[in-house]
Amino acid sequence: MNKREMKDMIKTARRLAKPFRVTDDGFRLKDIDPGDTLEFTSEDKPRAKEALAHGVALLAELQEMLYAQDRWAVLLIFQAMDAAGKDGAIKHVMSGVNPQGCQVYSFKSPSAEDLDHDYLWRCARCLPERGRIGIFNRSYYEETLVVRVHPELLNKQRLPSELITKDIWEERFQDIRAFERHLTRNGVAIRKFFLHVSSKEQRKRFLSRIEEPEKNWKFSASDSVEREHWDEYMQAYEDTIRNTATKRAPWYVVPADNKWFTRVIVGAAVIEALSSLDLAFPEVSEAKRRDLAAVKRRLLAE
Ligand code: ATP
Ligand code: MG
Repeated sequence: MNKREMKDMIKTARRLAKPFRVTDDGFRLKDIDPGDTLEFTSEDKPRAKEALAHGVALLAELQEMLYAQDRWAVLLIFQAMDAAGKDGAIKHVMSGVNPQGCQVYSFKSPSAEDLDHDYLWRCARCLPERGRIGIFNRSYYEETLVVRVHPELLNKQRLPSELITKDIWEERFQDIRAFERHLTRNGVAIRKFFLHVSSKEQRKRFLSRIEEPEKNWKFSASDSVEREHWDEYMQAYEDTIRNTATKRAPWYVVPADNKWFTRVIVGAAVIEALSSLDLAFPEVSEAKRRDLAAVKRRLLAE
């Protein structure tokens, strides 16, 4: 890929991702249609797939620079209702990236050891090193999502009771903002994704997980229990996004009723993130260049 192609792709990626980027508290969930596909129709699906493939190649190049430069780290956080396509989006978008430069962590219900610490602890232990892309499949955001929808989970967190007040969610937003500001100031570029699927499409995907034997493993009865709390989840998502979207650590609310479209937008946003860093291969010093020339002469003389 030459410089010019790279520049054009970065421009396209920024344009595609922009309508879904949230950077402040003015966000309303109803402004994003889960079925949105921008200018693409379903006939454009092959074209979109091709765009994704090119995007993946560009991502691989940017990631190589990130790794070689070894200054910035990138943290990508994925949140969604079940069957919204988190796993598939992560798999496709990161498919071209060198596995050594990428670390994925899935956060399930907290273990006894996790619960013996503050809620950021288990995630802080998994933050990406400089030069790497870290992916959180679910994250500390569950603390203002599932825990908010099921406040009884708070009792399992073994917090001193005087700390559980009506302000707890606002306090968590504050702490998450402060945590992310701290990371940002230390060279971790953060992007957060909410894959926004409609309840109708989730129902359809659940049914196919039940009907197709090879998809059965993806379905658990508890998924349908969470579905009963749909509206509460949507409220919790909206409030969480409003309170934690910032310029430095934006949310992307990505329409998720069409998987091919979700992947294009996530890919575009990741390209946007990497291309906003001043990535470059490290400069080779004069002394090193002389050493390399000397080695070359010796090799050629053999
Ligand atoms: P999939 O279903 O695609 O395999 P998943 O991310 O849904 O992936 P599960 O094991 O089904 O994985 O679910 C993880 C569960 O753990 C979710 O229901 C989530 O809400 C819950 N969870 C994650 N973090 C927390 C937390 N901090 N407190 C309570 N529950 C949590
Ligand atoms: Mg699940």
